[in-house]
Amino acid sequence: MPCAQAVSIPCESSSTSQRQCARPGVLKRTPRTPMATGKSKRGPRFARLLLAGNSADPLVVLRSATWNYNSVGLFAGNEALVVDPGLSPAELALLHARLVTAEQPPEPRRINHLILTHAHHDHIRGGCSFEGARTWMPRIAAEKGPEARGRILAAGEALGKRIAAEPAGYSWPQVTDPFDTEAQFVLGDSLEVRMHFLPGHSNCTSVVVIPALATLLSADYLVSPGVPFCRHEARMFEGALVGLRELVERYEIERLVPSHGPMHLGRDKIHEAIASDQSVMAAMRQAVRGALDKGLDKQQVMAAALAAADKDRGQTAGRLAAQDTDNARRILREEQDIA
Ligand SMILES: [Zn+2]
Repeated sequence: MPCAQAVSIPCESSSTSQRQCARPGVLKRTPRTPMATGKSKRGPRFARLLLAGNSADPLVVLRSATWNYNSVGLFAGNEALVVDPGLSPAELALLHARLVTAEQPPEPRRINHLILTHAHHDHIRGGCSFEGARTWMPRIAAEKGPEARGRILAAGEALGKRIAAEPAGYSWPQVTDPFDTEAQFVLGDSLEVRMHFLPGHSNCTSVVVIPALATLLSADYLVSPGVPFCRHEARMFEGALVGLRELVERYEIERLVPSHGPMHLGRDKIHEAIASDQSVMAAMRQAVRGALDKGLDKQQVMAAALAAADKDRGQTAGRLAAQDTDNARRILREEQDIA
């Protein structure tokens, strides 16, 4: 049980006793025990709870010190769920402690469900810390071949070195409940959780809906609206944005939590964020088509696509410039295939 040990590190390594550590509220905002998972030029950085969860709104969102990564948890009765938990052992421990003890249940809750939205290494990273939980994942993600698994785990190990924190027993997840298009279960007595396969960010991405909380966990969709975070096919990504819009309407979503960056609150804001991604993709595609029609060379086509993206959102992609270039390249490849 290497991973079970990983989740108790902060309590053991500080003067805080297990009991104190388990007291609801102690871990709210800035934890007493340093939770540093890496150092920036500005000094140590810390994980913090964006949402601490309570009986009216049992959603827990933990912001990592790295990549603005959001681990998500949910509790109902004496059960709890984690979604894409990460990134360091200390952060996993903080998430675990909050879910098990929030609102002082008569007995510590069991974290008996784990959802992994897709097979990128940051998303599967903490799964091994929740051994014994029913593990849900899109089938295509769960059944990646040995070569892809090796590549993904190696990228995860590189991250572990960079942040000097590797979850013990980091390995490919043992998926008990692979799903194809949709899946659902009930947490506690009555809190319904639904999963929808929505490929585009990757070929294996899904999103999670908690209808009673009007909440959608969007994995890597809308992590940086205006700079679409596409790691697969641009056209499939555009299809996913349409699918996302439909889900937001179907479930009357008012809160969208991406796996990185800020939450989007209110249906109008969520639709705005989707629209900004759609608009940039459309502008780039149109520019690429236009440039190809004029017979411009690859460099010129790329420049036209990037300029169109900047013009559409009214600013450059800044530190996300590499993603912009990546998107343009994917679109160009597709348009060349058509031509
Ligand atoms: Zn991803």
